[in-house]
Amino acid sequence: MGENLLPLCGWVDSAKLVRVGECNRCGKCCDPTTIPARMEVYRRYRLAVLVHTEPCRHFHYEDGKGVCSIYEKRAEMCRVFPRIPADIEALPECSYRFIWVDGGEDGTSAGSKDS
Ligand code: SF4
Ligand code: SF4
Repeated sequence: MGENLLPLCGWVDSAKLVRVGECNRCGKCCDPTTIPARMEVYRRYRLAVLVHTEPCRHFHYEDGKGVCSIYEKRAEMCRVFPRIPADIEALPECSYRFIWVDGGEDGTSAGSKDS
């Protein structure tokens, strides 16, 4: 169905919603200028999500790509991003997307809508 599938867990139905795609290194999820818009999305959906609310000192752009200076040691919250559609609602540059599947055992029986 797609590359790099990430089954979701927790309060999102892990059998139905999957993440597809690969990171294009746009850097927007680490870019401090996106924090207000991202926080607004979480507030609108009343989501309590662990996010950086202050600029990350490990982030910079290099040749137009986002770079994490501690990439190999970055926190779990950075490794799993994005986990839910709301994570990227305010990040149109993000190349990940979320799809709903109809529930085959391998999650490939059917796909429907993008996030
Ligand atoms: S630690 Fe790295 S991946 Fe996490 S927010 Fe900072 S720059 Fe981004
Ligand atoms: S916003 Fe999405 S595509 Fe861009 S760096 Fe973050 S995870 Fe990768």
